[in-house]
Amino acid sequence: MLNKIHQILKQVTDPEIPVLSLQDLGVIRNVEVDDKQITVTITPTYSGCPAMEVMEQDIIDVLKKEGLRVGLPTTIKVITQLSPAWTTDWITDEGKKALLKYGIMPPTSSGEIMCPQCKSKEVELLSQFGSTACKALYRCKKCLEPFDYFKCH
Ligand SMILES: [Zn+2]
Repeated sequence: MLNKIHQILKQVTDPEIPVLSLQDLGVIRNVEVDDKQITVTITPTYSGCPAMEVMEQDIIDVLKKEGLRVGLPTTIKVITQLSPAWTTDWITDEGKKALLKYGIMPPTSSGEIMCPQCKSKEVELLSQFGSTACKALYRCKKCLEPFDYFKCH
Protein backbone atom coordinates (compact mmCIF):
# COMPACT_ATOMS: atom_id res chain seq x y z
CA MET A 1 0.00 0.00 0.00
CA LEU A 2 2.84 2.38 0.84
CA ASN A 3 4.27 1.90 -2.63
CA LYS A 4 1.00 2.93 -4.21
CA ILE A 5 0.88 6.03 -2.05
CA HIS A 6 4.41 7.01 -3.02
CA GLN A 7 3.51 6.50 -6.68
CA ILE A 8 0.52 8.80 -6.29
CA LEU A 9 2.48 11.39 -4.34
CA LYS A 10 4.93 11.73 -7.24
CA GLN A 11 2.15 13.62 -9.01
CA VAL A 12 2.22 16.37 -6.42
CA THR A 13 4.64 19.03 -7.50
CA ASP A 14 5.93 22.29 -6.11
CA PRO A 15 3.31 24.94 -6.96
CA GLU A 16 6.08 27.21 -8.19
CA ILE A 17 8.17 24.60 -9.99
CA PRO A 18 5.80 22.23 -11.80
CA VAL A 19 8.59 19.85 -12.83
CA LEU A 20 9.69 19.18 -9.27
CA SER A 21 7.75 16.68 -7.19
CA LEU A 22 7.42 17.29 -3.48
CA GLN A 23 9.17 13.99 -2.93
CA ASP A 24 12.18 15.08 -4.95
CA LEU A 25 12.12 18.41 -3.18
CA GLY A 26 12.43 16.48 0.08
CA VAL A 27 9.31 18.05 1.57
CA ILE A 28 7.53 14.75 2.14
CA ARG A 29 9.26 13.27 5.15
CA ASN A 30 7.11 10.32 6.10
CA VAL A 31 4.07 8.39 4.96
CA GLU A 32 2.08 6.05 7.15
CA VAL A 33 -1.05 4.14 6.41
CA ASP A 34 -3.48 1.96 8.32
CA ASP A 35 -6.96 0.65 7.56
CA LYS A 36 -8.60 3.99 8.04
CA GLN A 37 -6.13 6.76 7.41
CA ILE A 38 -3.13 7.94 5.46
CA THR A 39 -0.80 10.22 7.38
CA VAL A 40 1.70 12.30 5.46
CA THR A 41 4.36 14.27 7.28
CA ILE A 42 5.76 17.29 5.47
CA THR A 43 8.46 19.81 6.30
CA PRO A 44 8.16 23.24 4.68
CA THR A 45 11.14 24.52 2.73
CA TYR A 46 11.11 27.49 5.07
CA SER A 47 8.70 28.34 7.84
CA GLY A 48 5.94 30.58 6.65
CA CYS A 49 6.40 29.50 3.04
CA PRO A 50 3.13 30.65 1.46
CA ALA A 51 3.12 27.70 -0.92
CA MET A 52 2.81 25.20 1.91
CA GLU A 53 -0.95 25.46 2.20
CA VAL A 54 -1.30 24.81 -1.50
CA MET A 55 1.01 21.81 -1.21
CA GLU A 56 -0.95 20.42 1.70
CA GLN A 57 -4.23 20.72 -0.17
CA ASP A 58 -2.70 19.18 -3.29
CA ILE A 59 -1.53 16.18 -1.29
CA ILE A 60 -4.99 15.66 0.18
CA ASP A 61 -6.75 16.12 -3.16
CA VAL A 62 -4.58 13.77 -5.16
CA LEU A 63 -4.55 11.06 -2.48
CA LYS A 64 -8.31 11.19 -2.19
CA LYS A 65 -8.90 11.08 -5.91
CA GLU A 66 -6.27 8.54 -6.94
CA GLY A 67 -6.49 6.58 -3.71
CA LEU A 68 -10.16 5.89 -4.17
CA ARG A 69 -9.42 4.20 -7.46
CA VAL A 70 -6.91 1.78 -5.93
CA GLY A 71 -8.76 1.23 -2.67
CA LEU A 72 -6.73 3.34 -0.27
CA PRO A 73 -8.25 4.95 2.82
CA THR A 74 -9.72 8.34 1.95
CA THR A 75 -9.09 9.97 5.29
CA ILE A 76 -5.92 11.93 4.75
CA LYS A 77 -4.02 13.69 7.47
CA VAL A 78 -1.13 16.00 6.74
CA ILE A 79 1.21 16.79 9.60
CA THR A 80 3.61 19.70 9.32
CA GLN A 81 6.90 19.03 11.04
CA LEU A 82 9.21 22.00 11.50
CA SER A 83 12.10 20.27 13.15
CA PRO A 84 14.56 19.21 11.86
CA ALA A 85 14.37 22.11 9.44
CA TRP A 86 14.29 21.42 5.74
CA THR A 87 17.60 21.79 3.99
CA THR A 88 18.51 21.90 0.33
CA ASP A 89 20.46 18.66 0.97
CA TRP A 90 17.11 16.90 0.95
CA ILE A 91 16.54 17.65 -2.72
CA THR A 92 17.19 14.39 -4.53
CA ASP A 93 19.57 14.10 -7.49
CA GLU A 94 16.54 13.54 -9.66
CA GLY A 95 15.06 16.74 -8.28
CA LYS A 96 18.25 18.68 -9.03
CA LYS A 97 18.21 17.43 -12.61
CA ALA A 98 14.60 18.49 -12.98
CA LEU A 99 15.43 21.97 -11.68
CA LEU A 100 18.32 22.40 -14.08
CA LYS A 101 16.19 21.28 -17.01
CA TYR A 102 13.57 23.77 -15.95
CA GLY A 103 16.17 26.56 -16.03
CA ILE A 104 16.77 26.89 -12.32
CA MET A 105 20.26 26.36 -10.98
CA PRO A 106 19.90 23.81 -8.17
CA PRO A 107 21.64 24.42 -4.85
CA THR A 108 25.22 23.37 -4.86
CA SER A 109 27.40 22.68 -1.86
CA SER A 110 30.50 23.83 -3.75
CA GLY A 111 28.91 27.24 -4.19
CA GLU A 112 29.75 27.17 -7.89
CA ILE A 113 26.86 28.58 -9.84
CA MET A 114 26.56 28.12 -13.54
CA CYS A 115 24.09 29.14 -16.20
CA PRO A 116 21.45 26.41 -16.68
CA GLN A 117 21.26 27.30 -20.38
CA CYS A 118 24.87 27.39 -21.60
CA LYS A 119 26.66 26.07 -18.46
CA SER A 120 28.90 29.14 -18.35
CA LYS A 121 30.31 29.91 -14.92
CA GLU A 122 30.53 33.59 -15.74
CA VAL A 123 27.45 34.71 -13.93
CA GLU A 124 26.46 37.77 -11.93
CA LEU A 125 24.06 38.22 -9.07
CA LEU A 126 21.22 40.59 -9.94
CA SER A 127 19.14 40.24 -6.80
CA GLN A 128 19.25 38.22 -3.58
CA PHE A 129 15.59 37.50 -4.13
CA GLY A 130 14.34 35.99 -7.36
CA SER A 131 10.78 35.00 -8.18
CA THR A 132 10.44 33.83 -4.57
CA ALA A 133 12.41 34.34 -1.37
CA CYS A 134 13.90 30.85 -1.77
CA LYS A 135 15.70 31.89 -4.93
CA ALA A 136 18.22 34.46 -6.02
CA LEU A 137 18.22 36.06 -9.43
CA TYR A 138 21.35 35.72 -11.54
CA ARG A 139 22.30 36.58 -15.06
CA CYS A 140 24.66 34.74 -17.32
CA LYS A 141 27.36 37.02 -18.72
CA LYS A 142 27.77 34.83 -21.76
CA CYS A 143 24.26 34.27 -23.08
CA LEU A 144 22.79 37.14 -21.03
CA GLU A 145 19.90 34.98 -19.86
CA PRO A 146 18.64 35.70 -16.37
CA PHE A 147 18.01 32.64 -14.22
CA ASP A 148 16.97 31.68 -10.72
CA TYR A 149 19.36 30.03 -8.32
CA PHE A 150 17.77 27.89 -5.66
CA LYS A 151 19.56 29.14 -2.58
CA CYS A 152 21.29 26.71 -0.30
CA HIS A 153 20.05 26.65 3.25
ZN1 LIG B 1 24.34 31.26 -20.26
